[in-house]
Amino acid sequence: MNIADNLNLFKSELVGTGCRLIAVSKTKPEDMILKAYNSGHRIFGENKVQDLVAKAQNLPSDIMWHMIGHLQRNKVKYVAPFVSMIHSVDSVRLLAEINKQAAKNERVIDCLFQVHIAEEETKFGLSSNELLDMVKNPELKDYENIRIVGLMGMATYTDDELQIRKEFRFLSELFYKIQSEISAENIEMMELSMGMTSDYKIAIEEGSTLIRIGTAIFGARNYT
Ligand SMILES: *Cc1c(COP(=O)(O)O)cnc(C)c1O
Repeated sequence: MNIADNLNLFKSELVGTGCRLIAVSKTKPEDMILKAYNSGHRIFGENKVQDLVAKAQNLPSDIMWHMIGHLQRNKVKYVAPFVSMIHSVDSVRLLAEINKQAAKNERVIDCLFQVHIAEEETKFGLSSNELLDMVKNPELKDYENIRIVGLMGMATYTDDELQIRKEFRFLSELFYKIQSEISAENIEMMELSMGMTSDYKIAIEEGSTLIRIGTAIFGARNYT
């Protein structure tokens, strides 16, 4: 199997679901990303600012880069000129910095709030109460250079499909709740970013609009 075949398999699986594919290229070399690009794919995800910036500089400019990893405030300035969506917003302070850097670049940056839905304690993200406080925060309306377009979550790493489904459903219920109850100029709930190689099928069944797939496209990662 090669990268183009893997992508085509996913694309055929996604037909009619309303869900799009982010090819997670973290740790993978640029020639592999170019193979995916040359097969027609344009949306890629990275989780480290340094890699994201380097790859964006070297690869075609019509790639839509999604920042899917934890983002420190002091690094927002490096991605603000080009990033197409930030999936990992988990504080008002980070959002304020994204707004500021987006304004400097005369852009509006699409953001997702990352919600902690897994059992593991190590993963980043807001609790559901923190999320609901965030979307009601009156300061949000002053941030004219960001747009909140949805939520992102990662399920527990487990074989227990019921557990995974329960966590994704929890996130999609929060998504619909905000969609129906919160009205603000710069909040428009459109994207539900959930599902990775091991759990994307369940995520799609639970309403995902963006699956983030690395291993099943590019193969296993070697961390050194
Ligand atoms: C690495 C990563 C993925 C992709 O994981 P795979 O299991 O390789 O598909 C998805 N989302 C986030 C946030 C990641 O860091």
